[in-house]
Amino acid sequence: MASVGFIGVGNMGGPMARNLLKAGSAVKVFDLSAAAVKACTDAGATAVGSAQDAAKGVDVVVTMLPAGQHVRGIYLGETGVLAAAGKGTLFIDSSTIDVDSARAVAAGAEKAGMLMIDAPVSGGVGGAEAATLTFMVGGPDAAFAKAKPFLEAMGKTIVHAGGPGNGQAAKICNNMVLGISMIAVSEAFALAEKLGLDHQKLFDISSKSSGQCWSLTTYCPVPGPVPTSPANRDYKAGFTADMMLKDLKLAQEAANSAGAATPIGAQAAALYEAYTTAGNGPVDFSGIIKMIREAKR
Ligand code: NAD
Repeated sequence: MASVGFIGVGNMGGPMARNLLKAGSAVKVFDLSAAAVKACTDAGATAVGSAQDAAKGVDVVVTMLPAGQHVRGIYLGETGVLAAAGKGTLFIDSSTIDVDSARAVAAGAEKAGMLMIDAPVSGGVGGAEAATLTFMVGGPDAAFAKAKPFLEAMGKTIVHAGGPGNGQAAKICNNMVLGISMIAVSEAFALAEKLGLDHQKLFDISSKSSGQCWSLTTYCPVPGPVPTSPANRDYKAGFTADMMLKDLKLAQEAANSAGAATPIGAQAAALYEAYTTAGNGPVDFSGIIKMIREAKR
């Protein structure tokens, strides 16, 4: 039986850890939240008192933390998990974080003689619960091969995107497309309303034409055409505007660091900043159509 240390068992990490238990791994968990830990110990996990304890004597350590500073804090330095684990331990960081932090931690892991991948996910809490997440993986071939069975216990689609940090790069590039396309689709519906063009008619035409995209056909920001989209339940998330803003900011950080021009990505980040600042952070990100509709030209 494989042994796993899981650090960060919140909305995403909790169900992921429970899926590893279901697949037959012995799982030790650590989190700052007692309630998050209890939801895992109730399912058969063992609670430990520190991140270092979670990393000692296990085959694999999985981390699912809020942001880059948490990941650096947990991994690096004398009190970090890299200093506590046995040589050759496999580390899987599934948090969504900045590419620079992911590469810094991967370099630390290599120096310490560990295997490591960055493996951010898409699919949300529903995907974490159903073990249907998509994993975007960056790291050496040997680490990817060793991680694959564990990722398969938590997800459905697993893509090796290249070397360290490339999982994070794939995640933020994809989500930059998503943020931009949601704004584009919302602007199109808001314009159609002012031109007297029916939502369903625009959907029927655009979903079969060159405007077709996921934001239109799966996550349509107006109620009606796609009955399962959050627009039909008053924009209850789903994927919150706060999370979209986080990913768009990560894309901007990466673009600055790499010297890439992303003017529409920057504009999308600015619009989501305005939307969340107005108190809509917990609303589904497709709710931005309301702000777009009300904006004065
Ligand atoms: P969450 O806040 O529910 O969980 C994070 C957990 O980390 C919390 O339980 C928190 O107590 C714990 N934590 C924070 N600092 C810690 C520390 N130093 N030691 C131990 N535990 C610590 O967040 P989440 O929704 O589970 O998201 C986790 C990551 O997954 C984020 O990077 C997020 O961007 C990414 N993500 C989330 C979703 C989603 O739909 N929720 C989708 C894709 C990716």
